[in-house]
Amino acid sequence: MLNSLQRQILGAINSAAGLSRTELAQFCRMSKAAISSPVREMLEAGYLFEADSINGPGQGRPSVKLMIRPQGAYFIGVSLLQEPAQMALINLKGEIIARACFALNRDPTLLAENIAHALPELLDGQAEAAERLMGMGVTLSGFIDETQSICVQSALLGWRNVALATLITQATGLEVFIENDAKALAVSEKRFGQARDLETFTLVSHGAGIGSAHFIAGKLHRGLHGGAGEIAHCTMELNGTPCRCGKRGCLDTIASVNAIMEMAREENLTVASLPELERLAANGQAAAIRILHRAGSALGLGIAHLIQIIDPSLILIAWQEETIDGLLGTVVQQSIETNVLPGFAGLTPVRTFAINQDTWVRAAASIAAHRFLDGPESINDGAKSAR
Ligand SMILES: [Zn+2]
Repeated sequence: MLNSLQRQILGAINSAAGLSRTELAQFCRMSKAAISSPVREMLEAGYLFEADSINGPGQGRPSVKLMIRPQGAYFIGVSLLQEPAQMALINLKGEIIARACFALNRDPTLLAENIAHALPELLDGQAEAAERLMGMGVTLSGFIDETQSICVQSALLGWRNVALATLITQATGLEVFIENDAKALAVSEKRFGQARDLETFTLVSHGAGIGSAHFIAGKLHRGLHGGAGEIAHCTMELNGTPCRCGKRGCLDTIASVNAIMEMAREENLTVASLPELERLAANGQAAAIRILHRAGSALGLGIAHLIQIIDPSLILIAWQEETIDGLLGTVVQQSIETNVLPGFAGLTPVRTFAINQDTWVRAAASIAAHRFLDGPESINDGAKSAR
């Protein structure tokens, strides 16, 4: 296991995509001499390597940059968001090295056994990875406790208070952390993606359900019970449509893909998917346009609230691949601009990206990578300080 200075060094080099010793010492607010011994240890242990950076003419001899060695550590990700469940092996740069899948059994003990049985296939021919395997992350739709080990509730899997991490550790011998899907995706973007250099950002994911997660001052904000970011069940319409959570008028009942498809059925539109509805809207079909406007307006309103509450450096919206350029996204953007305080309008960049088949499983693995690189401090400790 890394100590906190080594973690700080790896984190800084990862965020900056490579640092010289002088830059690293400045970042750590230490002398070059003080960082020389931990850097040497990490070079010897295979977490870092030295690369010559090429200077332009007249800029002196090339300086040596410290870089993350991708083969320095490996992590496994398991996504329980689809059937069959997906599994992947990633390296220290977040690159997927191998994939496997297994049956998504809703009995937690059998599920843990299925994961253990799928491991040999995943690690086949990966001797170095097996040796440098640092842990497993598991992502699912639901509430996860503050220790990232117990699924407090998952409507999709029909679970309440399932000690999933312990069951999987018993079956595999690996250190395991579980996480809610949107939070895992935010961690993945912070660790390996487009938010690497941001301290404060908010991610919103749109799919069958809607999720959000926040990084605040460089840490994933989980809240006292792990429930921070549950935008899907914020009330958007007082006395609106009953929601599966027991409330009424939640954002989930208006803007999730499931809700949009339900509204299309009520309008007698024969569409099997959101892209088909988008195509109808593009052809001028009035009911399709109305549904997408309603959904997009509500989602944009929810995101505008997030902007005013958090004031993040960036809003990242993760769309399903085939819906990223549709009317829905355009209305969301307009609705954000309309609903934020005029003084905030246009100040918060909103970036969109498409979820592909590797997204969730990489997000799962990034939970283990984040714990390895940042330690238990990687998550906010609001729960501890409040007790
Ligand atoms: Zn709800």
